[in-house]
Amino acid sequence: MIVTRFAPSPTGYLHIGGLRTALYNYLYARANGGKFLLRIEDTDLKRNSKEAAEAIVEAFKWCKLDFDGEMVYQSSRFDLYKEYVQKLLDEGKAYKCYMSKDELDALRKEQEAAKQRPKYDGRYREFNGMPPEGIEPVVRIKAPLDGVIEFNDGVKGEIKFNCADILDDFIIARSDGTPTYNFTVVIDDALMGVTDVIRGDDHLSNTPKQIVLYEALGFKVPKFYHVAMINGSDGQKLSKRHGATDVMEYKKMGYLSEALLNFLVRLGWSHGDDEIFSMDEMKKLFDPTHLSKSASTFNQSKLEWLNSHYIKTVSFERLVDELKHFGLNLKEIKHAKLLVDSLRERSKTLVEMANSAKALLNKPKEYDEKAYKKFINENSLNLLAKFSEILDEDLNASGYEEKTIKFLEENEAKLKDLAQPLRVAITGTSVSPSIFEVIEILGSKEVKERIEKLINK
Ligand code: GLU
Repeated sequence: MIVTRFAPSPTGYLHIGGLRTALYNYLYARANGGKFLLRIEDTDLKRNSKEAAEAIVEAFKWCKLDFDGEMVYQSSRFDLYKEYVQKLLDEGKAYKCYMSKDELDALRKEQEAAKQRPKYDGRYREFNGMPPEGIEPVVRIKAPLDGVIEFNDGVKGEIKFNCADILDDFIIARSDGTPTYNFTVVIDDALMGVTDVIRGDDHLSNTPKQIVLYEALGFKVPKFYHVAMINGSDGQKLSKRHGATDVMEYKKMGYLSEALLNFLVRLGWSHGDDEIFSMDEMKKLFDPTHLSKSASTFNQSKLEWLNSHYIKTVSFERLVDELKHFGLNLKEIKHAKLLVDSLRERSKTLVEMANSAKALLNKPKEYDEKAYKKFINENSLNLLAKFSEILDEDLNASGYEEKTIKFLEENEAKLKDLAQPLRVAITGTSVSPSIFEVIEILGSKEVKERIEKLINK
């Protein structure tokens, strides 16, 4: 069975790149009837992992990603890590190193002066004398110092590292007994039964160290997939400079989670030239062999394009629900369906949609200066006044249209003479969805009142 995981370090929010990693792992597990696990990598106790975990769960909920089993906190597993450190010590695969900080600094300086790669020189590897006093030792793994470490990366293909170039006997437990990052990852992935690790290729350099540990511990090495990073539009690694990186900011900006997930899945994965993927399709089609080797670019306009697609296509009930978060209560509005259907065609975000709806539903407080100057004059006010007289019953949009055409014929006027001044009267601006739909939504009485308000301005 495929078992994947998402293993964020607590930062207080879910990063957009993290969500992509989570999504890939989630999809791979779901596509194969496997398991998707969540682990909070909070061994650095200075950070508040509870809050950070809550932020991740909140973002998962919003995106409707579910994980299997209990969320695992590394901070609750220190005893377990200690056990395995001891095991490696007992088996002679790891050892205590009593080098002081001064000694380490001196070694580093020497190596730098000789233009060598700074690395631990193994001086305690075979030590069995009396430990120096007053020094709490670190524990180091006996790493292979020559030969190669090879693995077949699911994205990058055959990867080879020369041990002599990259390894030394690296630390697995610090002098205060806390385990190091690479060590906890390996213990947890192995004990949680993780078979496939999909993660950013910024972790590629950790992989040989982790393989050393898997082998020392006698655990099976999982399959790794190192996915290329997401860049901003300037080709630099995506950061706050490029816009929001917190997933929940996208919710606040009026994106639907479907759009964000669809956007993210395509940033680094493809299925032919297809662009639109529902969650069901993603689950069916996702295959990590089509993950991209090269970095992708975060393209905000593509995200907007996908968002308008989903705003156009999700159900009415769903939009009513979403729009509540933007201060729009459509439950009390008689023609809510018509309002939503006419606005969803022209909105890139829910914020835009809610604002347009509010602009329609409330009487204008002021009139856009340009629109007023352009469309409001004695003639147009006269026409509006006359038009207001025929608004004596509530009709549907085509009923209003018919009645209006008749009215225009009788008054020898054209639709353009009426439509824009009417928009100014109704919304205070010269933009709105189809004018007849707008009249149906508001009803004759309300439109009459708005015309009157403009005339009496
Ligand atoms: N905790 C690591 C991070 O947030 C991820 C570790 C991994 O995926 O192996 O970058």
